Formats: sequence, C-alpha cells, structure tokens
Amino acid sequence: MAVLEHLTSQQAIDLENKHGAHNYHPLPVVLSRGEGVYVWDVEGKKYYDFLSAYSAVNQGHCHPKIVGAMVDQSKTLTLTSRAFYNDKLGAYEEYVTSLFGFDKLLPMNTGAEAVETAVKICRRWAYQKKGIPENQAKIVVCENNFHGRTTTIISFSNDPVARNDYGPFTDGFIKIEYDNLQALEQVLETNKDIAGFLVEPIQGEAGVYVPTEGYLRAARELCAKHNVLFIADEVQTGIARTGRMLAVDHENVKPDVLVLGKALSGGAYPVSAVLANDEIMDVITPGSHGSTFGGNPVAAAVGIAALEVVQEEQLAENAMELGILFREELNKFIPTCDLVTKVRGKGLLNAILINDTEDSDTAWNICLALRDNGLLAKPTHGNIIRFAPPLVMNQEQLMDCVSIIIKTLQEFEK
Ligand SMILES: *Cc1c(COP(=O)(O)O)cnc(C)c1O
Repeated sequence: MAVLEHLTSQQAIDLENKHGAHNYHPLPVVLSRGEGVYVWDVEGKKYYDFLSAYSAVNQGHCHPKIVGAMVDQSKTLTLTSRAFYNDKLGAYEEYVTSLFGFDKLLPMNTGAEAVETAVKICRRWAYQKKGIPENQAKIVVCENNFHGRTTTIISFSNDPVARNDYGPFTDGFIKIEYDNLQALEQVLETNKDIAGFLVEPIQGEAGVYVPTEGYLRAARELCAKHNVLFIADEVQTGIARTGRMLAVDHENVKPDVLVLGKALSGGAYPVSAVLANDEIMDVITPGSHGSTFGGNPVAAAVGIAALEVVQEEQLAENAMELGILFREELNKFIPTCDLVTKVRGKGLLNAILINDTEDSDTAWNICLALRDNGLLAKPTHGNIIRFAPPLVMNQEQLMDCVSIIIKTLQEFEK
C-alpha cells in the first residue's frame, strides 16, 4: 500500500499494528490535524483534546508563534552538535535561567533524559561536594512515581508493567511513600549517604495525586536541613499546567535541581532541560555528559517561543481560573451520579475517579464514549481518567467540554 495515500482510520491503525512495536495501546482514533484546543481525525471529525500529549501541548496545537520559530530556525541552521557553539543556545540558556531563577541550564531532548541527567548531577554532587564515599550515594524517590522509561528510571519505579523482565536494575534508590513527611524525615535521619530527593510536585501518571498542602515546603526544608538535594520533576506539572509557572510555586518552593520537558517546546519538538545553581551544576565538566541533539538551535528557538507564549497569553492564570471552574462544575454533578466518586487536581491537571475496580474496563469504555461525543481523554491506572486540555482554552469551550463529559457519564450510567 502506498505510504503517501490518504488513509482511512482503520487502515492507519492496521499499519501501526502490523509494522510498529506494540508498546502503546492507543485509543482508536487517528488524528491528522490540530489547532489550538482541537484535533481532527482523518475522516474530518473534530475533537477537544483533553490530554494535550500528556501536558506537552499546553500552548495549544500548532501554535503559530512556536511553529514560526521552528520553521524559521529550521531554514537557517538545525544542528551543529556541541562540538561547536551555535548562536541560539546561549540566548536560550540566558532566557530560561533568568525566568526560573537558576545560574545554569543543561539542555537535553526528552523528559527521561533530563531525569537521568538530574540523577547524574546529584550523584556527582554527592561525591565531589557532600563527601559521600564512592558508590554509596542514595537518592530517595516516591512510591508510584513516574519519571520516564530508561533502564535506570524504571529501576526505581514500582509499576510492574513498566519493569517486568527488564532487570537487572540500577542500584542506589530508596523508595518511600508519597506525601508522607514522617517517612522522608525517617529515611534522612537514619541514612548518612543520601544525596537527593526526587519528587513530582503532583503525581500525574499515578492518577493526579495532589499532596497535602505544605508537603512540598516541609520536604524542601527537611532536604535543606540534611544537605540533600531537592529535585523537582516538573516535566508534566511545569510550564503553567497547574495554574502557576511551576507546581512548586504554589508553595513558594525553590528546588535545588529543576527538571523540565514536555511543554518546554509546546509539543512542537523534543526539548528538555535541567536547571541548577553553579555550586551544583559545576560538577558537570567537558565530556562527562552530553547529547548530540541537546541544545540544538531549533530546540533553543522553539523553547524561547514556547515560554514566551505562556507569559504573553497568561496561560498560568487561565489554567488556575478554568481549573477552579472545572472542578466546581464536576463537583455539582458528582453527587447526582454513582459512576464518578471524585474529581481532583490543580489548575488544568485534573482527574476523575471511576467507581469500579482498577482492572475493570469502565474507564476505557467511558473514554470511547467521550471520543464519540467529541472529546479525547485517556484512562491512567485503570479506573482514573485524566483531564488535561491545552491551556489556551477559553471559558465557553471549557463549559462545552464540561457538558460533553457530564452528558457522556449520564448516558453511560443508564
Ligand atoms: C512524561 C514524564 C517524564 C518522561 O518524559 P519523556 O519525554 O516521555 O521521556 C518524566 N517525568 C514526568 C513527571 C513525566 O510526566
């Protein structure tokens, strides 16, 4: 079959199934175009995107400013590698570090690479600055974390689906319960060789778990007290998603190490970064870490444009207001139905809990019905449905989406 022919949805799905590895289980919908909060399938049906590529498309699909920066830079210079300087990277690094208040940035491409980078920086800092004996450094992580898919990162995951038959695993991680300060305090007090605490300010993949108010601030203070690096993985929660530029901003927390990805490019291009101050980042020396594509001029141009859009269009403020409205509207509906037990979240990172077992297919079937009614979302961990639309949504569109969601749930209950 000719590759360039116009395909039906079924043909496109069949091709992926036949020729692609089955490492995902996509909702059966084949998208061919996106603009702002909308996407269209190959048959021309229009949908609200309520996933935003796991919060990479916060700025909306094909944002003209971001695409413009990408196209312009792509016609000028795309890649030099870091063997040479390029004229875009420094300006990007200056812009991002001043925006987030850090001395330095290390550019990578994907979220997992940025988390790996943060782990390496943290370990080096432990040996070279904190004085932990060689190969003894431990990093504390949380149960039900999601930090990506590399071998080291899945070593400290407790998701059997992500880990099964991928061992042997990387050592040096201690898992504690999320949102449990006593557990953190205890591990810091009983172990001398702790280098860092790696945490998601809200656990997105786990099902949008928002920790108790004050948890991040107190955890940050415990880390400072024990000379342990507080590493915030804001790959999903960052860049205005939760109603502030960073989710840690809600508690005025400044991490020692900040990990960004996803919406750092508005979904146009893989761009990730690790930020830290000099006394931490200067453990990285020439040759000790790198990436062929990390810091390329297209990524730099796209990154600046994507962050400018967030500020110019006040996406954090919009996410904050619409998030409150969204939860209010669903909280009016939930007492009237048996199917949904709860809505939770912050800003426009929200989830509903379906009243069924984790291994039921109810949430999946609801997502199929939502699709039929023109809204795309995906279950996470069985009976939880995440709702994370692009942040360029307006109030009228949000209310339209609320009525689609409620109508679908009502239909489903019958
Ligand atoms: C998506 C995600 C990652 C991994 O990012 P990739 O670009 O998929 O490698 C890491 N941490 C968090 C919190 C994420 O949501």
